[in-house]
Amino acid sequence: MTSNTEFQAWRVEDHDGDFQGAEQTLNTADLPEGDVLIRVSHSSLNYKDALSASGSKAVTRKFPHTPGIDAAGEVVESATGTPAVGSQVIVTGYDLGMNTDGGFGEYIRVPADWCVTMPDGWDARTAMIYGTAGLTAGLCVQKLLTMGAKPEQGRVAVSGASGAVGTVAVEILSNLGFEVVAISGKADKAADLKELGAAEVLGRDALAEEKKPLLKPVFANAIDTVGGTPLAELLKQILPGGSVSICGLVAGAQLNTTVMPFILRGINLLGVDSVEIPLADKAAVWHKLSGDWKCAKTEASARDIARKELDSALKAFLKGESAGKIVLDHA
Ligand code: NDP
Repeated sequence: MTSNTEFQAWRVEDHDGDFQGAEQTLNTADLPEGDVLIRVSHSSLNYKDALSASGSKAVTRKFPHTPGIDAAGEVVESATGTPAVGSQVIVTGYDLGMNTDGGFGEYIRVPADWCVTMPDGWDARTAMIYGTAGLTAGLCVQKLLTMGAKPEQGRVAVSGASGAVGTVAVEILSNLGFEVVAISGKADKAADLKELGAAEVLGRDALAEEKKPLLKPVFANAIDTVGGTPLAELLKQILPGGSVSICGLVAGAQLNTTVMPFILRGINLLGVDSVEIPLADKAAVWHKLSGDWKCAKTEASARDIARKELDSALKAFLKGESAGKIVLDHA
């Protein structure tokens, strides 16, 4: 592709270990090789973006770099014809925003098979309210449903409930008629979680460490976004035949458990990856989010920021002070 268009990007530079992000003028000719050039109208803020912007080598190896693991906008050049020029697309995961320049720039160039066609009736801003976190919540719900989860089986727990994944999981499950028990360390978020549809909000002590290999089973199914000890304790409280979708590790990557919940209660542990899965699997969940699984309350509460506000917004993420869904609007 030979396009030569100047654009604005929030670019992070490495000044001897001091990582600084600022607006810069770039040229589409400088973007990496790829099938599809996209004019990005909106992106979404994720913890991973904050890691990239602060120089985490686990996320981004080379600087200068434009973060942004989520992007949505219009296709302006397409070497493959699919997606077509003029169509709106969503790009999340794969290498976007990690070592491929991401959605914090007004343009990205990516492989065609990273692009999900925008669901009918949806727009880029709405898609970016959900972003990777919403997609992940949807994938967690979908895995539970695939295993046969039904509201009449009993209560569904969501841990890390006030987080980006947790809030969307609570709202989707509640909309689907499940009785949702939100497990949250933030007592001041209890009212918000009930507003999203949680029937009950429990503190993190509901998943405090116990010696016993099994506890009284109280949840039919669950979505765990935190990992570690809370996940091990959750597994002990799942009713026979129930399932737990897992996606996160904020409470620890280590899972110390026994086989007892699995061999005595037949429960299922379902891993969820939103990054490297086939495009069709992402597309299926995006279509659900734009239709039956729409989260009206999450959509209504989203906040838009401009590029110049990225620095403070990303720093808030790193301090654990970020709340609600934040959309980057390039306009
Ligand atoms: P957030 O930071 O928005 O939320 C995480 C929530 O977990 C917090 O709000 C808090 O909720 C709870 N929490 C934080 N620290 C602890 C702790 N030490 N012990 C117990 N609970 C804690 O993150 P996201 O919702 O965006 O992501 C959740 C997890 O999912 C992360 O680990 C993230 O990396 C992962 N993830 C995985 C993806 C995948 O593809 N597998 C994609 C996206 C995210 P509360 O105060 O309510 O308890």
